[in-house]
Amino acid sequence: MAKKYIIVTGGVLSGIGKGVLSASVGRIMKENGINVNSLKIDPYLNVDAGTMNPNQHGEVFVTEDGYEADLDLGHYERFLGIDMKRFNNMTAGQVYKTVIEKEREGKYLGGTVQMVPHVTEEIKSRIKKIETDLLLVEIGGTVGDIEGEIFLEAVRQLSIEEGRENFMFIHVTFVPYLNVTNEFKTKPTQQSVQLLRRIGIHPDMIVIRTEREIDFSSLEKVALFGGVKSNYVINLPDLKNVYEVPEQLYRMDVHKLIAQRLNLEINGIFKWSCPKVFKQVRIAIVGKYLGTDDAYKSIIESIFLCGYKKPELVDAENLEEIDDEGVKNLLSKYDGIIIPGGFGKRGIEGKIKALKYARENDVPLLGICLGMQTMIIEFARNVMGYENANSTEFDEITKYPVIDIMEHQKKILSMGGTMRLGAQKTEILEKSKLSEIYNGEKETFERHRHRYEANYDDFKEMYAFPDDENKENKLIIGGKSDFIESVELKENSFYLGIQYHPEYKSKVDKPHPIFAAFTETIEKKKNIL
Ligand code: GLN
Repeated sequence: MAKKYIIVTGGVLSGIGKGVLSASVGRIMKENGINVNSLKIDPYLNVDAGTMNPNQHGEVFVTEDGYEADLDLGHYERFLGIDMKRFNNMTAGQVYKTVIEKEREGKYLGGTVQMVPHVTEEIKSRIKKIETDLLLVEIGGTVGDIEGEIFLEAVRQLSIEEGRENFMFIHVTFVPYLNVTNEFKTKPTQQSVQLLRRIGIHPDMIVIRTEREIDFSSLEKVALFGGVKSNYVINLPDLKNVYEVPEQLYRMDVHKLIAQRLNLEINGIFKWSCPKVFKQVRIAIVGKYLGTDDAYKSIIESIFLCGYKKPELVDAENLEEIDDEGVKNLLSKYDGIIIPGGFGKRGIEGKIKALKYARENDVPLLGICLGMQTMIIEFARNVMGYENANSTEFDEITKYPVIDIMEHQKKILSMGGTMRLGAQKTEILEKSKLSEIYNGEKETFERHRHRYEANYDDFKEMYAFPDDENKENKLIIGGKSDFIESVELKENSFYLGIQYHPEYKSKVDKPHPIFAAFTETIEKKKNIL
């Protein structure tokens, strides 16, 4: 069978859930017995998302193979239930870099190197390389963006070369509702379809995003002006729980419409179970990237997928200004606290205050990456009495560098893709809390993204191993590799720090066990109180 393609483009606005829609379409087709994979195209010039500020662009998602990706790859992993790899993302930066490098190597034999055909060829070859029966290609941005045009041109060419019958174009747009006149306005959608047609792409399906359910006559209008059969115009109103989108699409027979259009045999089966009721616990993420809700996306989704209410953001910098009593007042309404990953000094002292409060008051606490590092700093200062102990990331000349740069990182000068990245083995030590969480497993592969590590050699007295007799008032090492991978406290109900990022591995139906254990502890504690 020829490889089939679904190309998803966006119209009118960005941020209307094109990623969720594509991933959901992928899932309903996967459940229907089709071998599915995905490719997210990001038209920006960054080579990857690794150097992008989470405040502007949302979190950086890390894959098993150590690629620093746009957060959309996270949606694909969670929805599709398959691990994404480097090849599941393509940026304009990567494409241009390859083309220019080839030119410098003389690979174009003296020819004039041009957008068409050289850049388009590079794009097409990357798309073709992904082996699967059905490839979902999501083109980031909105139709009409200068940067995206070359990608649309490339998929247009590809659809001719591979056979238009093997291609399905889905255009996702937004239809606003005007309160003043009480009507939906389809004009922006009509115009965005026109833009697409001008490029030579005729959509096969139009998905209309609305804030509430649209009326029939507006749907008909879109069908007429968009040149699409009316049953191929799909309305997807906002849902509180995005994990219900696949079910919604299934109910609307989208899988059948796709199968019909692409001539695919499907089994009509759809199994999907996502949490629908959410237990009311209050979890705080004490962080510093507050510019967008997406900065801590995978953590938030991990809690949600455990069946608990989404955590709230607390500004770490705010905490810096207030005394211990004030911190307690502010944080006492939360049943659990997460200290997430991050880079740079801003907000660190606030996180340390939150940690002191959580440790002393036995508030369930989860420290992720920088979160674990700050747990160690707090412990060094307030339990060991090491005044101004710190990470050399924040204080290069601290007397107590309890967190220090990894030896091999000292020589690395360039920024992108150079940290300790991706799946790395952690040995789980028996009798630790970590071992309990992992059901007695001896090892785990978890995703990393860091340059600094816990400095065990110079500060052994702070630590104990689960087998040691004296573990009182020590940070117990529950997981290790060449580095400390996890610390925990015996005294507290849940006080766990991990050097890796469990949030990247949560999937629908299978949230990461660390989040499951964390939320269960919170719930139990809350019920006792
Ligand atoms: N800034 C810290 C480091 O580089 C932590 C990184 C993170 O939290 N992802 O080690």
